[in-house]
Amino acid sequence: MKITDIKTYLMQVGPRPGMPAGEGSFRGSRNWLFVKIETDEGVYGIGECSGWPRVIERAVQDVTSILIGEDPSNIDRLWHRVYAALMGHGMTGTVGGGTLTGIEMALWDIKGKVLGQPVWNLLGGKFRDTVPVYGHAKTPERARELMDRGYSAIKVGFTGGVDIDLVSSIRDTVGPNVDLMVDAHGPSWMTATDAILVGRELEKLDLLFYEDPVAPENLDALQRVRDAVDVPLAAGERVSTIWGIRPYIERDLVDVIQPDTGRAGGITQMRKMAAMAESHYITMAPHSGSLGPVAEFAALHVLATIPNALMLERIEFDWSGRYEVVSPALKSENGALKVPDAPGLGVELVEEEIEKYPSDRNVTDMPTNENAYEPGTVGECVYFQTRLRRRARLRLTQTDQN
Ligand SMILES: [Mg+2]
Repeated sequence: MKITDIKTYLMQVGPRPGMPAGEGSFRGSRNWLFVKIETDEGVYGIGECSGWPRVIERAVQDVTSILIGEDPSNIDRLWHRVYAALMGHGMTGTVGGGTLTGIEMALWDIKGKVLGQPVWNLLGGKFRDTVPVYGHAKTPERARELMDRGYSAIKVGFTGGVDIDLVSSIRDTVGPNVDLMVDAHGPSWMTATDAILVGRELEKLDLLFYEDPVAPENLDALQRVRDAVDVPLAAGERVSTIWGIRPYIERDLVDVIQPDTGRAGGITQMRKMAAMAESHYITMAPHSGSLGPVAEFAALHVLATIPNALMLERIEFDWSGRYEVVSPALKSENGALKVPDAPGLGVELVEEEIEKYPSDRNVTDMPTNENAYEPGTVGECVYFQTRLRRRARLRLTQTDQN
């Protein structure tokens, strides 16, 4: 069998630009990129690349020529061939990681289809038939809705500022039997000192983890938080490959690694990361967020097969198109997703649906409210900012606001 072509399917993910920013909207900037690897025997495989889909599409097109004519069954060898081809472009990063991931995922899909086996069975078999998922809540009401859908793990994301009272009120709503997490999103305006102050407040709220307390570029800052705060930490969504995740694991900086199944480097890279983590008693809870519906299938195959799978992130109240561009569509039941049993990944693209949503932009517009560009505010659109208005941004407790 030989690879004959690689096709790409890039799409805009709703809601459309101009619509209110809601859960999963990313202010209209979100794209999904799917790939299809075709062979001379009619079998094909599909994969997904997350990270920066519009740019990754071109990267996939660039490396296609080195894969044409190759035997798709040699997955690791082809991965290394693409990795070596990327070398001259610098560190692998998100674009390289996403490129490697979509191609490698599609090769696994081909192998599973050829052998008539789900990917999880080619990876050593299952630990579990379902994978628990966690959802997002910015209000106690949304937390309640997630619980009504069977969720037993809920994450509160800070946007624009820290709000401990919100976390506290959601903890009060969900009670002690729901796992609660906080994602600070690694804001560049949060110093290690502030992240430690926040972490000390979070110590009182029995979190499952405190995610990305500081920006990811400087791991020594994360080390400071690690040393000072007694809350489990999670990080790793912005890195790819085993080399990207290595310092988080080797330095024991986190309790949970969060590789993104669409840009971490592929199914085998995810499994290697899990094994590295296992040796440090670290669990894995893959990032979702911008992730589309094909990579979600791949995540389930990985998580089915590793002992240290914690759970999978999921945008439960996502745009309805998520359920139309692939078949079958994954729906959670009792706060979990069923591990697919069909050969390969177990999912197919619905091309006529994807075609309805041509990509038009892939970067996020910053807020345009009247304070948006005030110096020192989050809306200033400068990655590293002076820390003005610190007290307003860092709402540690009710008392602190007074
Ligand atoms: Mg995150």
